[in-house]
Amino acid sequence: MLSDHVDGLALVDHHVHGAVKGPLDRTGFEQLITESDRPVPPWMSTFDSQLGLAIRRYCAPLLGLPAHASADDYLAARAHADVNSLFLRAAGVSDYLVDTGYLGDAVTGVDELAKLSGSRAHEVVRLEAELEYVSTQESDVAAVPDALVRRLEERTGGAIGLKSIVAYRYGFDFDPAEPSSADVLTALDRWYSSGAGRVADPVLLRWLLWTGARRGLPLQLHVGFGDTELQLHRADPALLTEWLRLVEPLGTQVVLLHCYPFHRNAAYLAHVFPHVHLDLGLTTMYVGARAAAVLAEGLELAPFAKLLYSSDAWGPAELHFLGAALWRRAVSSVLDGFVAQGDWSADDAVRVATLWGRENAVRLYGLDQR
Ligand SMILES: [Zn+2]
Repeated sequence: MLSDHVDGLALVDHHVHGAVKGPLDRTGFEQLITESDRPVPPWMSTFDSQLGLAIRRYCAPLLGLPAHASADDYLAARAHADVNSLFLRAAGVSDYLVDTGYLGDAVTGVDELAKLSGSRAHEVVRLEAELEYVSTQESDVAAVPDALVRRLEERTGGAIGLKSIVAYRYGFDFDPAEPSSADVLTALDRWYSSGAGRVADPVLLRWLLWTGARRGLPLQLHVGFGDTELQLHRADPALLTEWLRLVEPLGTQVVLLHCYPFHRNAAYLAHVFPHVHLDLGLTTMYVGARAAAVLAEGLELAPFAKLLYSSDAWGPAELHFLGAALWRRAVSSVLDGFVAQGDWSADDAVRVATLWGRENAVRLYGLDQR
C-alpha cells in the first residue's frame, strides 16, 4: 500500500526552525498559528483556519483527546504535556535542517532540537544575519567584504546550506548582475552612515546572494507568502529568472522554499533550470484540507528529482509534526489517485514519494556523507 509506505517513510525536513521553549497561553499560541504578525482581533480566533482545524484534527489525538477536540480542551491538555518531544518524535523525521537566523533565542537551537526529537539536526546559515553580525564587529567599512567572506567560511564549516530572505527585505525585482566592489563599498558606506542594523539595501542584498552562491552550498530562498513584511507580488520566483541564469555556471544549487501561490512558477523554473529545486513547506500545513490540491499543482511541471519536503515550522512543535502528517496524507491521496486512474504504476508512486520525502534531500545536501 502506498499510504503504508509514505506513513513509514523517514522524512528529511530540509527547512525548519526551532521549537518554542516554555509554555504558551492562548494568545501566544494563536499568534503562532498565523503568518500575520498583527494582534488577533478579539472577535476571531486563528483556530478558525485550515491550520487551526488541522491541529484539532491531527494533533489532539496525540494528547489523548478525540479528533476535533475544542480549542479550549486542546490548549488545556497541551499545557500538561511534554509537547516538544511528543510532536517532534511523532513527525517521523530522520534529519532536520535548521535555519537558525530567525528569532533564534526564542526557540530551541540545533543541538537541542536533535536531543528533543531523537533525530539528526544540521544548521542552515542565514546570509542577512551574518552580514548584520559582521557590521557589529567591524568598524572599518573597507574591511567588511573580507570580514564577511571569513565569517561565512567560519559559520559554514559545519553547516549544510545557506538561506536568503531577500524576498522579505526587498523583493526579487533586483538588478540580477553581481555588483562591483565599488558599488558594494558605496552601499556599505550608506548603510554604516545610517547606523547599519537591519540590511535592506538592494545592492547589499544581491551582493550577499552572490557571495552566498559562491560558497557552493545549497542556497535556500524564501519564495511566496509569509508575514506582513512581504510584498507578495515581488516574491514571485519568475522575477528571479535572469539571476538564476547568471548564477547557473557557478554550479550552486538553488532551492525555492514554500512558493505559494507561485508554486506553479517555481515548478516551471525547476523544470527548465538544472540547478533549481522547490518545496511546498509551510504551504502544506497552512492550506490544511486543501493540501492535496496544492501539492498536485506542484507535481504538474516539476521534475520529480527536484521536489523536497519541509515543514518550515517555527514555534509550536505541533507545526513540526503537522507539516509531516499533512504532507504524508496529501501525497498518498494525490499519487493514489494517479494510480487509480491508471496513469501511474503503484511502484512509480512509491518511488516518487520516496524521492520527494527523502532521497532528493539526501542527494542535494550530501546527508549520506554526514
Ligand atoms: Zn523558514
